[in-house]
Amino acid sequence: MNDCVFCKIINNELPANKIYEDEKIIAFLDIDPINKGHALLVPKQHYSSTLETPDQVVCNLAIMAKKIAKAIMRATGAHACNIGINNGKESGQVVFHTHWHIMPRFENDGYELWKGKDTTYVDGEAAQVAAKIKNNL
Ligand code: AMP
Ligand code: ZN
Repeated sequence: MNDCVFCKIINNELPANKIYEDEKIIAFLDIDPINKGHALLVPKQHYSSTLETPDQVVCNLAIMAKKIAKAIMRATGAHACNIGINNGKESGQVVFHTHWHIMPRFENDGYELWKGKDTTYVDGEAAQVAAKIKNNL
């Protein structure tokens, strides 16, 4: 995966402001943060998205996400954070190596989540959608 920017950071071929590293996982500051302290948590093995990442690796990411989120909040004074995962181009994913965004949030910091349009169900449609998802589990 020599054209992957995160593999290059993992292999020390590109610089990054690292905040955590072990044999399986790395975390570093996002180069274009939504707020200062915005970090990316990344498995060292290359998978194209979280949905393609083995369950055990996802578990490791989740455990570290919780720890790192708390450290970011303590370090920045934030009382809240978003942990965000984009999966696929239409969701906004631009780097196709699994990564979780950990973003400190502040009151009136100017961001609104998932703003854009309202979606509503017609009568009975929500139950149909729920049943369809259940059948695909
Ligand atoms: P996504 O849209 O979920 O794929 O997010 C990719 C993120 O990677 C963006 O927030 C970028 O700012 C960040 N990014 C891209 N290149 C680098 C880099 N060299 N170092 C740190 N963060 C990066
Ligand atoms: Zn990669």
